[in-house]
Amino acid sequence: MSESAPGAVTGLEENLWPLTARLEADGVMSVGGVRVDALAAEFGTPAFVLDEADFRARATAWRQAFADCDVYYAGKAFLCRAFARWVDEEGLRLDVCTGGELAVARSVGFPAERLLFHGNNKSLGELRAAVEYRVGRIVVDSFVEIERLAAVAAAAGIRQRVLVRVTPGVEAHTHSYISTGQEDQKFGFSLAGGAAARAVAAVLAESGLELVGLHAHIGSQIFDTAGFGLAAHRMVGLLARIRDEHGVELPELDLGGGLGIAYTSEDAPLDVEEVAERLIALVGKECAALGLTVPRLGVEPGRALVGSSTVTLYEVGTVKELPGLRTYVSVDGGMSDNIRTALYDARYTARLVSRPGAATTQVVTLVGRHCESGDVVAHDVPLPGDVRPGDLVAVPASGAYHRSMASNYNHVPRPPVIAVRDGTARVIVRRETEDDLLRLDADPPDPAVSVTSAERADSREARVAR
Ligand SMILES: *Cc1c(COP(=O)(O)O)cnc(C)c1O
Repeated sequence: MSESAPGAVTGLEENLWPLTARLEADGVMSVGGVRVDALAAEFGTPAFVLDEADFRARATAWRQAFADCDVYYAGKAFLCRAFARWVDEEGLRLDVCTGGELAVARSVGFPAERLLFHGNNKSLGELRAAVEYRVGRIVVDSFVEIERLAAVAAAAGIRQRVLVRVTPGVEAHTHSYISTGQEDQKFGFSLAGGAAARAVAAVLAESGLELVGLHAHIGSQIFDTAGFGLAAHRMVGLLARIRDEHGVELPELDLGGGLGIAYTSEDAPLDVEEVAERLIALVGKECAALGLTVPRLGVEPGRALVGSSTVTLYEVGTVKELPGLRTYVSVDGGMSDNIRTALYDARYTARLVSRPGAATTQVVTLVGRHCESGDVVAHDVPLPGDVRPGDLVAVPASGAYHRSMASNYNHVPRPPVIAVRDGTARVIVRRETEDDLLRLDADPPDPAVSVTSAERADSREARVAR
């Protein structure tokens, strides 16, 4: 499988694997200076292995490329306390879209001023929590929310800074479930239909709300700058109309996230430097033409910051050859830790990482352990011909929308997230246990139940050690 464009130094395909991923002399992969066989032995599989250096390098690149702009990390891609702290340390801002994500930020004292709160249906309780924490900006998404938020701000006796979410009518060329710029969808106020202009007027009329700018997010996993450019063009046009109608120049323009990453070696992601340069130049030029002060730009990368930092480490359990059809290689996770394949028909690749494997390759379907035939981790993956039970397989680009979208389908405990850096590994989200799964059950267990949780834990260890 390594015939496909091997990276010069690491022996790995470029763009696909975390920054510090290497193949050691014996063919075992290491990430952050830690061998994956050691990780599997200590922490079990499946596991998300997050390369801290990879994330921090991308954070630096984004901050430098968008130097005089606000870079918000989109927390929905992946969030936990340790990660929120890294985001803070790297000088990034954080966007959250639920009370739960806000709770993570609050629990590490994330600076409120650098938070942005999104969502098309934030509850009254969530709005209250955000205002109470003094979240820097709230993106309003409906007329009803403008009223609700104004009431919450009034009750708290503050003026809340607000952005208006605009639907700029741009079709991002991506899967319809993750495309959010076109007119017919649940997010934002339509630009073409006039709702955006009315929302602006409604916010301006509320004394408890301070309108600081406009916001758009056209979609995710985008590979060309044309969509971003068109959205920026239309948003600047709206800024000019707002100036003409209301006599105010809004100081901020947030263009959202959506930059794509490589999931297989066929994906060619854009350079953040190039995207930044083009967007900044375009907004500058259009503002000059309209006589507008250039607003402070905001961007909200999620996937592009964390997606490539992480690999999912699985252990192969069975190999089933169906003559004339295909070979199914089953691993010990699946749609509960990666729903993207089933949900978006996303493409992934995988690699045998616990030994070199035979030189001959076979194209297999990598499947999970769930009771559903759509439980595919990766279609058409070239793996060594001798792949067998006990092998470790790694799937790259699993940092964004994997752990954060993970489920307990089939009562499968969700995998841990293990941060690796400079030869050390640290669990930043622990593995769920069967006790965790049973904790929400309102009925007590049968008093005669014979297996104690300690015994269950023992049998788990035994499985892991096997
Ligand atoms: C999902 C989302 C993002 C992040 O998208 P990515 O594709 O992960 O960069 C940013 N902003 C908003 C409003 C979003 O909904």
